[in-house]
Amino acid sequence: MTPETTSLLLLQSDDDVVDLLRAAAAELEPRRRALEAEREGALRKLTQARAAVEADERRIRDIEARIADHKARQERNLAHLDAVKRMREATAAMMQVESGKKILFEEESAYRSVVARVADGLAAVSAHEKALADMEIAQSDARRALDAEHAAISAQLSAALAKRTESSKGVRPPLLAKYERIRGRRAAQAVYALSDGACACCDTAVPVQRRILMVSSGSIEVCETCGVLLYATE
Ligand SMILES: [Zn+2]
Repeated sequence: MTPETTSLLLLQSDDDVVDLLRAAAAELEPRRRALEAEREGALRKLTQARAAVEADERRIRDIEARIADHKARQERNLAHLDAVKRMREATAAMMQVESGKKILFEEESAYRSVVARVADGLAAVSAHEKALADMEIAQSDARRALDAEHAAISAQLSAALAKRTESSKGVRPPLLAKYERIRGRRAAQAVYALSDGACACCDTAVPVQRRILMVSSGSIEVCETCGVLLYATE
């Protein structure tokens, strides 16, 4: 095996480490997203509960305004009833007073039910606020653990990248470019040994003449079937 082949194999094992560390870093992302989704879910419930209370509070103000109007109208109706003299007018005025009472009764009952709903809504807001706060406390450990893992992986990755840069210096630029292209395309191992005269990746036999050349010159060739780099071990 030539020194360059040895360097190339070292580079390949360095790249395996880099890839493992990148995969480990990528695995942290779904965990972080899951925490975020959980928190957003709790926050959404709280926001919805608050919006429901605000809408009911607006309803209360509207009903209060309508009740005030109805009361004022009812006072005028009662004053009119006191003032009328003739029976027919009195009957009409009485009906108006009765109908005003009915409307007021309905508005007041709607008012009481919205007021009760606001009380329930405020309790729900408190419960959602507490749930969110509890979740943030519970999540803080998980987030700290994630941050620590991320920092550890980042440090290892920097070291691994520095090592791979150093190893790459042992491989001449044309071969290095070829190796990086093949590794990038396959997203996996790019250099294989000849195994019993065949490519160890796809098991296609390499012609004898070429094999002899590879052994004698130590050259690294591309497998014509699967496109990986091949080297002879003997
Ligand atoms: Zn092959």
